[in-house]
Amino acid sequence: MKIILATSNKGKIKEIQNSFKDIKIIPFYEIVKPFKIEENGKSFKENAIIKAKAVFEMIGKPDKTIVLSDDSGISLPILNNAPGIYSARYAGDNATAKDNLYKLIDELKKREIKKTPAFYTAAMALVTKDRVFSVHGWMRGDVIDEAKGENGFGYDPMFIPKGFDKTLGELDKNIKKELSHRSKALQRVKIILKLLQEGKK
Ligand code: IMP
Repeated sequence: MKIILATSNKGKIKEIQNSFKDIKIIPFYEIVKPFKIEENGKSFKENAIIKAKAVFEMIGKPDKTIVLSDDSGISLPILNNAPGIYSARYAGDNATAKDNLYKLIDELKKREIKKTPAFYTAAMALVTKDRVFSVHGWMRGDVIDEAKGENGFGYDPMFIPKGFDKTLGELDKNIKKELSHRSKALQRVKIILKLLQEGKK
């Protein structure tokens, strides 16, 4: 079974590849020329399905191939769950991960908030020739009004997972591997893959 990953986000690719020991996960841009996918869904799930379907089409809808996508982001209840599905473009369309991180820190500083609850969501879609599946995973914690540590990616330097007193930027990467929204969604992805392999789905 071949799994093609519908993302070019290096942080996501690393975490997803590290979570699979026996299956090779190939980023789509190693097979076809990278192309822009319009993420115009209204939820993480809709965007995950849009991305997986777009890549499946682009690679020619092959048999015995699964396209896996990840649409994810961070939500702050105090900001009505922003940035949410707009996490990758919070500071503008061509914003870098650092721009987005510091934009969220600025939003906290503007409101004089030092620490507030937040959660990450990951929606993953699996697309095959005749099936579409989707799963979710979440991680809860707090965000703080400064960036600490270099581990992880995106908003990790400002995110403290529940039960810890350091950010994901500071914590060992195995802790994120155990707790993260992406890991939880991947556990569900693996159940679907197993059923597909056994022909039960
Ligand atoms: P997407 O590529 O549209 O799904 O955007 C995902 C964005 O959400 C990333 O660019 C990050 O800004 C943020 N994000 C998602 N997952 C994580 C994570 O595990 N750590 C930090 N930031 C994340």
